[in-house]
Amino acid sequence: MQCYTPFVKKKMNRSPLQQHFLNKLHLLWPALKGSLAQVRKPCIRPNCRACARGHMHPNYLLAFTQKGRRRCLYVPQAMVPALKRALENGRRLEKLLYEMGPALLREYREHHPAQTGPAVKTKRKTPAKS
Ligand SMILES: [Zn+2]
Repeated sequence: MQCYTPFVKKKMNRSPLQQHFLNKLHLLWPALKGSLAQVRKPCIRPNCRACARGHMHPNYLLAFTQKGRRRCLYVPQAMVPALKRALENGRRLEKLLYEMGPALLREYREHHPAQTGPAVKTKRKTPAKS
């Protein structure tokens, strides 16, 4: 019989849900939240043909929120594929986190069947609008 201890820090006694979460988490590195945008900027070289033609030079910017403020950082070209993967993993991670609420409750109810469930009424009476 397996012991259910989701809130106790014990490496050896993970619940199946915790193990599932950790397995998924492991595969979702690197992960980030933000957005990647391509911009075109002039360079500093004098008499640059690309800039003279108005083509300029493609650059990537990573936009993200830090302490409630929108920020941007330039991204080296070589890091673009890794950051695209990280953004996709960030979306997967967020989806995983949204799944954890129902999954944790489901797991809890499997181990505490008499305490909650059909006997507990979740529907509340809505007060009449005045
Ligand atoms: Zn240029």
